[in-house]
Amino acid sequence: MADLDVVVVGAGFAGLYAVHAFRSAGLTVRAFEAGDGIGGTWFWNSYPGARCDVESKDYSYSFSPELEQEWSWSERYPAQPEILRYLNRVADKFGLWPLIQLSTRVTGAAWDAATSSWAVTTDDGGGVTARYLVPTVGCLSACNVPDLPGLASFEGPWYHTSRWPKEGADFTGKRVGLVGTGSTGIQVAPEIAATAEHLYVFQRTANFAVPNRNRPWLEEEEAAFKEHYREYRADARQSFLGVPVTGTGRPVLEEPREDVQRLFTQRWQAGGGMPFLGAYTDLLVSQEANDVVAEFMRDRIREIVDDPAVAGLLCPRGYPVGAKRLCQSDDYYAMFNRPNVSLVDIRSAPVESVYPGGVKTAAGSYDLDALVFATGFDALTGALFAMDIRGASGLPLRTAWQAGAQAYLGVAVAGFPNMFTITGPGSPAVFSNVVLSIEQHVEWVRDAIVWLRDGGHATMEPTVAAQRAWMEHVSQVANATLFPRADSWYVGANIPGKPRVFPWYVGGCGPYRAKCDEVAAAGYQGFTLDG
Ligand code: NAP
Repeated sequence: MADLDVVVVGAGFAGLYAVHAFRSAGLTVRAFEAGDGIGGTWFWNSYPGARCDVESKDYSYSFSPELEQEWSWSERYPAQPEILRYLNRVADKFGLWPLIQLSTRVTGAAWDAATSSWAVTTDDGGGVTARYLVPTVGCLSACNVPDLPGLASFEGPWYHTSRWPKEGADFTGKRVGLVGTGSTGIQVAPEIAATAEHLYVFQRTANFAVPNRNRPWLEEEEAAFKEHYREYRADARQSFLGVPVTGTGRPVLEEPREDVQRLFTQRWQAGGGMPFLGAYTDLLVSQEANDVVAEFMRDRIREIVDDPAVAGLLCPRGYPVGAKRLCQSDDYYAMFNRPNVSLVDIRSAPVESVYPGGVKTAAGSYDLDALVFATGFDALTGALFAMDIRGASGLPLRTAWQAGAQAYLGVAVAGFPNMFTITGPGSPAVFSNVVLSIEQHVEWVRDAIVWLRDGGHATMEPTVAAQRAWMEHVSQVANATLFPRADSWYVGANIPGKPRVFPWYVGGCGPYRAKCDEVAAAGYQGFTLDG
């Protein structure tokens, strides 16, 4: 008999809710968390300027109306420290601490067919067995540090934004090099520029960023909103992105240009990425339509940035808006008007090496006191492969996914009985308000486990055919959009040697939920029970 019903790996948004949901269903559960605190991505990414790009009222749990009413967000978009406080409050309120083992990394998990359980090993030399394994390791947790020749020789401190020191980093009066201009780089850059003697932003690919228009969440606004929170959440669950967004419902290409300009200007002034890309129906499916929004955004960059040459370099080209995650910042572009900030184009003159006192590119040398890498993550698979997960017949997950990550409905993998992935491949995950997706996945998995228990079943595993059919559907839906068309972490292009696959379901949260419910109602169609 296994020690536990469920082992959960990770204690971020997903792990915390999984622990709560499974325990509430009468299951025995323990979560292992590598960090010495809870919060997952919000624990590790404590770099200055870290802030969520989904609004606070959406980027929060919906499972408890009481929590929803008693917690008060201070700003429209939550900053990292506030999200971390929120998650700690959740752990306190729901008594989750005794079920979480901190500072313990799961090193492996092996399926034992004889006992129908998982043997889970941890880096403290311990181990535990469980009937179900639920990795909640997040899609963006294994960090990517570029393998630059000479980095080890650099004499100053260097940091990756997702492993920021808890004591912080002081850049006052320093010459700082920042590599990476994705969502993270765009957030951290203005914070560094505010105190550094000089900031050099090493840009390989320019990114599109819309304003946040972040502001305090006013008390009266909050009170009025909270009166209809339940109805709002119900709408969110059925929505496309997990956040209700109002669009025109019409294609941009059929609209008069003045109307388009007016609406984009309004949405630019209101702030936020989802309302911007959700304004018209064809922006993410037609290149010609996408060009309209791209040109609008390039015009704004040229308006904000004083030096035309710098503005020109900051204008993204060569991929559709939205095919890389749309960034959000109120002050990134304007930062380049500061005399202590330089943009270094490493597309035309790549970084060649790091020397003890700086960075050498094909065009010149930059003397630096500190280096910051905002170079992203080995998304989706990085954190899962960091554990040695072995399914039926000892098959390593790494081998099962060598041509690309696959799962049935994003939650279960053929060959890996009783393992349920939260925000796994084939789910809306990062293409949605991820907190809402996490809740949906966890609840679906909880219900499946309870159904198995009540029906006296020992194991559950998707068939290869069901998994293949689902992933084909995922690809078909994606290929009808512009999403797979950029080289980004969405397709694994940021990690050398990683297979180029677009594993995200972009058919919408509402339809995805309906499909998952339909599979469950049909007695878990597409799954094999008891081997
Ligand atoms: P990212 O989007 O993958 O961006 C990484 C940046 O580093 C890119 O500019 C990339 O250039 C550059 N880079 C990577 N390797 C490099 C190399 N060897 N040499 C030079 N440049 C290199 O990573 P991220 O900014 O950390 O964001 C990842 C995701 O986290 C986001 O898309 C978002 O989903 C999430 N996030 C969200 C927020 C938020 O909510 N506001 C904030 C931060 C992160 P290329 O484009 O040329 O590859």
